[in-house]
Amino acid sequence: MRDFSQDHRWLSINTATVRRSGGQELPLPAIIEACAERGIRAISPWRDQVHAAGLADVSRMVREHGLALSGYCRGGMFPAADAAGLQAAHDDNRRAVDEARELNAACLVLVVGGLPGALQGRAAHKDIAGAREQVREGIATLLEYARGVGMPLAIEPLHPMYAADRACVNTMEQALDLCDALDPRRSGALGVAVDVYHVWWDPKLQQQIARAGKERLLAFHVCDWLTPTTDLLNDRGMMGDGVIDIPRIRGWVEAQGFAGFSEVEIFSTGNWWQRPHAEVLDTCIARHRSVV
Ligand code: ZN
Repeated sequence: MRDFSQDHRWLSINTATVRRSGGQELPLPAIIEACAERGIRAISPWRDQVHAAGLADVSRMVREHGLALSGYCRGGMFPAADAAGLQAAHDDNRRAVDEARELNAACLVLVVGGLPGALQGRAAHKDIAGAREQVREGIATLLEYARGVGMPLAIEPLHPMYAADRACVNTMEQALDLCDALDPRRSGALGVAVDVYHVWWDPKLQQQIARAGKERLLAFHVCDWLTPTTDLLNDRGMMGDGVIDIPRIRGWVEAQGFAGFSEVEIFSTGNWWQRPHAEVLDTCIARHRSVV
């Protein structure tokens, strides 16, 4: 297992972590500058932030600073209530792959979607099995395109509390079943993003990380699970402030040969998004060295 205590060369910042600074929105170019100033070598930006700043400008900044992208957030949201919706999702996902390619991301992260309409508070139906079938078909189709342009797809299993509205793939086992079905040769074109927030509780976690192996471990996301958690989406904790044994999980991932970045991804309306981004980034660096 790599020693993170001496430096932060393997730290990546998911830019949602500092999308707000002191309660105010912080544009992506300012986030990139703040990361570069601190010797942070990688980021994982969100599409809305990239679109707001302009893909060409972000691409230029990333290159000028020599930043790597540990991932690009995000594609997915495959299920839809009708054919037009499925096609719209497919078209948008192809654009996400193209953007990830332009930014030279390590992978496009897939949050696969749940029941159509549920995110807007009006689920079109209750057929989660059907939604999962649409996810499988959607990934299969997108994989052909992504493989052609050399952009790996990383399925991110989300905690089951998001099964209705964000992702009906909820365990590593489920994600890896999809990988086995759609990429049986383990080509590296399809794998998983292991986010400790979503999978830490899973009694099969160690076993499924071993099953994934190096070819399918495409990203590693860290934050912490707070007790109590006050918001299902936006109350993620800073590493070290919660109950997740992060070094243990990182050890399992690295035992398979994963040698990529450890990406900090914190959504925190009430705490970290209220603080100045400089403090948040400095805390990420310190915690990366001490508790990740
Ligand atoms: Zn994540």
